[in-house]
Amino acid sequence: MKFVVLTIFPEMINPFLESGMLRLAVERGIIDARALNIRDYADGKHRVTDDKPYGGGCGMVMKPEPLSRAIGAASEIAPTARRILLTPQGRPFDQAMAQYFAASDGLIFICGRYEGVDERICQEMVDDEVSIGDYVMTGGELAAMVIVDAVTRLLPGVLGGDESAEKDSFSGGLLEHAHYTRPSVFGGEGVPDVLMSGNHAEIEKWRRETSLIRTFLKRPDLLEKREFSREEKHVLTEWCRRIEELVG
Ligand code: SAM
Repeated sequence: MKFVVLTIFPEMINPFLESGMLRLAVERGIIDARALNIRDYADGKHRVTDDKPYGGGCGMVMKPEPLSRAIGAASEIAPTARRILLTPQGRPFDQAMAQYFAASDGLIFICGRYEGVDERICQEMVDDEVSIGDYVMTGGELAAMVIVDAVTRLLPGVLGGDESAEKDSFSGGLLEHAHYTRPSVFGGEGVPDVLMSGNHAEIEKWRRETSLIRTFLKRPDLLEKREFSREEKHVLTEWCRRIEELVG
């Protein structure tokens, strides 16, 4: 899978590509990731990439010509890649979108700065507008890194045998169960007995149940459209019954 990040700050992206799981994915030949400096496609001695907004007002806007050339160069590197504009006005990024992108041939990211990019780039040269959340950052680089990271870990061969993206939060519509490791007592708190029992069927049952209950407690919105299995209905009604007993 090819990733090309278009930015005026490639020095933000390169250390990220050289660290941890991303570096492994590059070394294993699973991803080919690079940053192109939009300034390299700008005109003049000063390689200016921004200009004042038509109509006046504060802030600067990223000029269309350098962006258009940079997108052209990225498309030569990754001809079938989707072109993604990072913007707080885009569709919110989530695990389902990460899975959709992981099945694509590649991704080209356009990182805005200042007030954003000239609207004609958004209209003519972009496949998707994507936001990583309802807040405004100074640039799209962190958003590009978030998406590269979330997509890369879904690609075959990236996660080791003892990690699984399929069991992660959101993949099955629920949050993942709790995890414990040694020591068996920490800060006076132990580990649930079932996890020490060696009974794999019971451990799996406990994990399914706690996954459902912690989703109900932390993110009930995730359950709104869920079609509950018979086991899940039983777990939730039993749990509510016990709370009723407790509170009287
Ligand atoms: N004036 C723009 C607006 O109000 O919609 C915000 C521009 S922001 C200061 C500069 C750049 O940061 C954007 O062009 C975008 O590339 C990036 N950015 C900021 N917040 C983002 C978010 N939540 N998701 C994705 N990209 C974001």
